[in-house]
Amino acid sequence: MTTDQILISEVGPRDGLQSIQTIMPTEAKKAWITAEAKAGVKEIEVGSFVPPKLLPQLADTAEIVAHGLTIPGLTVAALVPNLKGAENAVKAGAHKITLPLSVSETHSQANLNKTHAQVFTEVANIVALLNDLDPSKRPQFEGGLSTAFGCTMEGAISEDRVVALASKMMALGCDEVGLSDTTGYANPAQLKRLVRRVKAEVGDANLSGVHLHNTRGLGLANALAALEEGITTLDSSLAGLGGCPFAPGASGNIVTEDLVFMLDSMGIATGIDLGKLLEVRKILAAALPNEPLYGFTPDSGLPKGYGSEGPWGLPKAS
Ligand code: ZN
Repeated sequence: MTTDQILISEVGPRDGLQSIQTIMPTEAKKAWITAEAKAGVKEIEVGSFVPPKLLPQLADTAEIVAHGLTIPGLTVAALVPNLKGAENAVKAGAHKITLPLSVSETHSQANLNKTHAQVFTEVANIVALLNDLDPSKRPQFEGGLSTAFGCTMEGAISEDRVVALASKMMALGCDEVGLSDTTGYANPAQLKRLVRRVKAEVGDANLSGVHLHNTRGLGLANALAALEEGITTLDSSLAGLGGCPFAPGASGNIVTEDLVFMLDSMGIATGIDLGKLLEVRKILAAALPNEPLYGFTPDSGLPKGYGSEGPWGLPKAS
């Protein structure tokens, strides 16, 4: 049995599904999550506790969390936009919650209808809520800094601002922060610089994950840059579900299958069985027949001899 070196956090059931119009049936979501956990994925962001009116695709999040909790060893994560969402996530029993703070205040107001000051109040209230819980029931609380690498409304984002907001989120009581390339603007040099700066500010252990999109094809290059800076959690979505309405042909998040292939090939253990993971796509294809499924590895198939000997011999799924 090998120890996993990198945690892949599957975000397709949240980020992917919220980006498409089709509503995936609840049973299909459950089958997807079960199958992906069986393939060795240890953390899945299963939904978002937002009003169903805003995102009907995720209206069944509480039920999906409950399903995820029945799977041994799976960390069940959910997004929460505010205190109300956090209360619902706690009620449902999520292991991990992430509140996205858009570094771009314009984006924050457009998306959450909140200024930074208003988001800070929500964060402080969530921390108070969590501190009142029995420690065994307290979810891990991540402050996700979205649009950290650029914003479709504001354009370039000041790195000083990202660092300052990371520091603020920790001061408010988040357990950790994450960096999100919500818009697919990041490049590897920028990513390395920002990871280094934020780690220097909040401490190495308090920035462990990045959330990458592949809008301009730099997703895996950015993932590699993140690994080189000591990032140990990478968000990705099966089949790159979601796509990008402004970039036809581009996947949404980085594609889980391609990410696993890259890490496998490099001898970096994820605990995921790539053959089994590829099979999970069938569930998506059946439930979302009109949505494009992305991924180079699934399209071209595994190389001859894959997983036995040769350059990709090292990590065997445990
Ligand atoms: Zn995203």
